[in-house]
Amino acid sequence: MRRSNISSFTELSLRVAFAAAALLTALIGPAHPQTKTRCAANDWSITGGTADERRLICEGVAKTEALLGSCGIRALEPVDLVVADSLLDFCGAKAHAQFSTKDKTIFIAPLDVCISERIEKGLFELVGPETAYRSIAAHEAAHAILDANGMRPEQWVDNEYVAAVAQFAAIPPEERDNLIGALRRPAPVTAAEIDAVIYEIAPLLFAAKSWLYHSALPEPCAFLNDLVSGSFTFVDNRH
Ligand SMILES: [Zn+2]
Repeated sequence: MRRSNISSFTELSLRVAFAAAALLTALIGPAHPQTKTRCAANDWSITGGTADERRLICEGVAKTEALLGSCGIRALEPVDLVVADSLLDFCGAKAHAQFSTKDKTIFIAPLDVCISERIEKGLFELVGPETAYRSIAAHEAAHAILDANGMRPEQWVDNEYVAAVAQFAAIPPEERDNLIGALRRPAPVTAAEIDAVIYEIAPLLFAAKSWLYHSALPEPCAFLNDLVSGSFTFVDNRH
């Protein structure tokens, strides 16, 4: 009898607990609602994120599509983007964003996480947070488009160069000039300075050098196509 009472009490407690959990879920919804929307300009899809994050990501992606598309380098089909819950793991390091060649998906941390976890060596300090966030999306969009165009993994310095150019192209000119000034960039930049070691220790300086080098080219589109085809490659001087 007593055992039965305990059993009933336990059962009742469980029922109350399940009912409470169900009620709570109904009231607040799942922990991370996954809204899936599409960028109006290009049909790339975004899962998760706030309306502001999705707007900035779509703007950044559209800028890269316009920049590379004007040189005939295009994504063959729309790319998926996901606003993650936190920073991304990239080869054991933390990153604000990442393009997964395996999943053909761009993952981007939330804007507030990018602002609080300033791992881009100054980007979020030297330009406004919305500009920085938009530029990160532009950077990863370039990686996705280059992947769709068959750029080989060993061309990673070339890949980062194009992504850096796309990232800086997505920053409004005045903010971009201020950013380059803050980095005390040396100019002019030679191809030998588009350097794997600089990328690894100072990625923002690598990006500034890439932008300056690219901006001074007489035929920037021809150069981008040479990089994509592999007929020109920057020297990976780590070896
Ligand atoms: Zn990159």
